[in-house]
Amino acid sequence: MNIVFLGAPGSGKGTQAQKLATNRGLFHLSTGDLLRTAVKNGSPLGQKIRQYLDAGNLVPDDVIIGLIEEQADAGNLSNGFILDGFPRSQAQAEGLDRMLTKHHMHIDHVVLISVDDSVIRQRLLRRAELEGRSDDNEATITHRLKVYRNQTEPLVTYYRDRGLLRTIDGDQTPDDVFAALSAVLRNGTTA
Ligand code: AMP
Repeated sequence: MNIVFLGAPGSGKGTQAQKLATNRGLFHLSTGDLLRTAVKNGSPLGQKIRQYLDAGNLVPDDVIIGLIEEQADAGNLSNGFILDGFPRSQAQAEGLDRMLTKHHMHIDHVVLISVDDSVIRQRLLRRAELEGRSDDNEATITHRLKVYRNQTEPLVTYYRDRGLLRTIDGDQTPDDVFAALSAVLRNGTTA
């Protein structure tokens, strides 16, 4: 099963993606994690990436699509995957479609975890205290939400038009979200 997770920063998609991947033996690919690792390694590319992460801007599409392509070429996507944080723009969604066609693969479900902005804000500020992520401060949070609305949210329509969208209320306990997620994957309900 191949799944894409959509949702604002702080919607809980990382937590749910991780849990679902473990539960179903799927490959969990978080572009945020991948990019943070690249930054930690301190390569010239990592240093460039850091500027985008710290500002809360999207890393250029060609860099991201290149990273995903590397994973596909390495065969990591062949036995079922969860994409967490990718695609985040129309160009990335189209790049993903091209890549999957090339590898004779397709997306089964696009899961949108829907949470109100006020709840998101509170969650991200709490995460800032707990994890000390450099992009979880108030100004960057506001900017990241704007980037999500402008660049990523249009993908909701993109995938709804293709009959792939499954929407879940993310303003519940993580266990309840996971139960809703499991039910939706079982029934293939579209929204
Ligand atoms: P995340 O951990 O998914 O919230 O991502 C953290 C940051 O990594 C984002 O604010 C972006 O700067 C960058 N990032 C993650 N995924 C992508 C993507 N698909 N395209 C562009 N930038 C990304």
